[in-house]
Amino acid sequence: MINPRSGFWSRLRITPNSGTIWFDDQRIAMLSVRAFTELRRKLIEGIGPAESRVIFWSIGYSEGSKDAHLVRKLRPGLEASAAIADAIGLVEVAGFASGEVLRSTVDASRGQYQGEITWRDSVEASVQLELSGITVEPACWILTGHISGYVSGLIGRPIAFREVACRAMGNPACRAVGKLAEAWETPDEIAEVVHFPVTGNIETDASKPYQPIGCAPSFASTLHLIRKVAPTEAAVLLLGETGSGKEILARQIHGLSRRSGKPFIAVNCAAFPESLIEAELFGVEQGAYTGASYARPGRFERANGGTLFLDEVGALSLISQSKLLRALQESEIERVGATTVRKVNVRVIAATNANLRDAIQSGAFRRDLYFRLSTFPIEVPPLREREEDIPLLIEYFIRRYSWLHNKRVTGITTAATDMLARYDFPGNVRELEHMIERAIILVEDDHPIVLSHFASFGSSIMAENRSPVAGHPSENDSQRLLERLASAGVTVSEASSALIGAALRRAGDNVTEAARMLGMSRAQVAYWLKQQKVKPNGD
Ligand code: ZN
Repeated sequence: MINPRSGFWSRLRITPNSGTIWFDDQRIAMLSVRAFTELRRKLIEGIGPAESRVIFWSIGYSEGSKDAHLVRKLRPGLEASAAIADAIGLVEVAGFASGEVLRSTVDASRGQYQGEITWRDSVEASVQLELSGITVEPACWILTGHISGYVSGLIGRPIAFREVACRAMGNPACRAVGKLAEAWETPDEIAEVVHFPVTGNIETDASKPYQPIGCAPSFASTLHLIRKVAPTEAAVLLLGETGSGKEILARQIHGLSRRSGKPFIAVNCAAFPESLIEAELFGVEQGAYTGASYARPGRFERANGGTLFLDEVGALSLISQSKLLRALQESEIERVGATTVRKVNVRVIAATNANLRDAIQSGAFRRDLYFRLSTFPIEVPPLREREEDIPLLIEYFIRRYSWLHNKRVTGITTAATDMLARYDFPGNVRELEHMIERAIILVEDDHPIVLSHFASFGSSIMAENRSPVAGHPSENDSQRLLERLASAGVTVSEASSALIGAALRRAGDNVTEAARMLGMSRAQVAYWLKQQKVKPNGD
């Protein structure tokens, strides 16, 4: 296995003449503790300690959830309980503190977590002592945020750590205790900062309508805008790729609005041919055309008093666009074949995955309709730009679909989670959701979801995630993989260790079988295993 601490240090690259320092694929910049002290002083003086704490904590949380994703990538197959120790290695590389995990128990099947961590020489505690002397409140805001985001990202449940001792309070070292965010008896304003979605017990969770889920900064800012605009009457335009969750966000806006007691009606404009969309939106009078044997209201009328969600609005023809524009301007609609108009009171939320500005340029979309619909445009990020949310989503979909399909699933193996974390999901959240639902249907009761459950139904994920131990790759695939390893600076010993570890997992820890796969002798693999056990923890 890759040794955590030296592994992280080897990812730090200083390129002397270019003015750049990198950690893995991220550029970093050094800041003196003196400058950090000034920053903290100015912030506390400017907005107060409580607000400053929230800001530093959020930055830590967001970095921590990204680090959890990085560790999953660097050390695939690592169990969550072992990966938690890596959080210390990461803050050591950043120069924030050193420390130890005192205890960390993950009960994945029951979604429980208990942890305790200690930090020595925390830079935040030193800075606070410099600023104010001994304090009554803990001072390690970034560190506490970091470990909370890290463990949440790792196990896919909202975990909050709080310091119970801090060097800034006069204790010899800092100590933080972590548990499920909802398990803390006293509320904490920090919980407001991060969107903690998965709460309550499995059944009530899964039976409730879908909630937006995620803590990635890009998604958190989308949710922030949603909460701001929801109580108003503004027309909202949701921009994002197919499957990124636009309808769920539209429902969220409706649910948080004054119209929440009234209907929410969704219509996918791309799902109806040109000849039918008008009747679908505005309704039909009896005898309006051949086959219209009775009158029926359209979606506008059915949404009266509530919200109408127009998905794929870019698919409307110019004729339908002008009728939609009139309906929005006049707040009245005309059923197909009708001689009178009807008043409607509807808030419209539109969504598109098309670039409407380009469509306006080419004359395919009306500029005046665009401005009518986009009073408040909101970007919805694709799943590949919020990869740290993947574990949270996996956890949520497993709960939801095992409840829905009446299955007892014990969880998902680390190898399967690792593979999902590396996939780039062109179909976004919806693709992940469908994959988990299919896996839930396939898995035997009282068993976990494993890699092979994603291979069925011709899922492309196996093809895109091929590695030497997960199938029989072509020569090209092997070549690409080797080149990637070489460019990532993976050493021969790291690579061979990772390969042996993967073969052992694949063989269910059967040493003979793993040796056969690797073309090694049983004694060689057994020796490697013994070496792993005698290595002291962490070095
Ligand atoms: Zn502290």
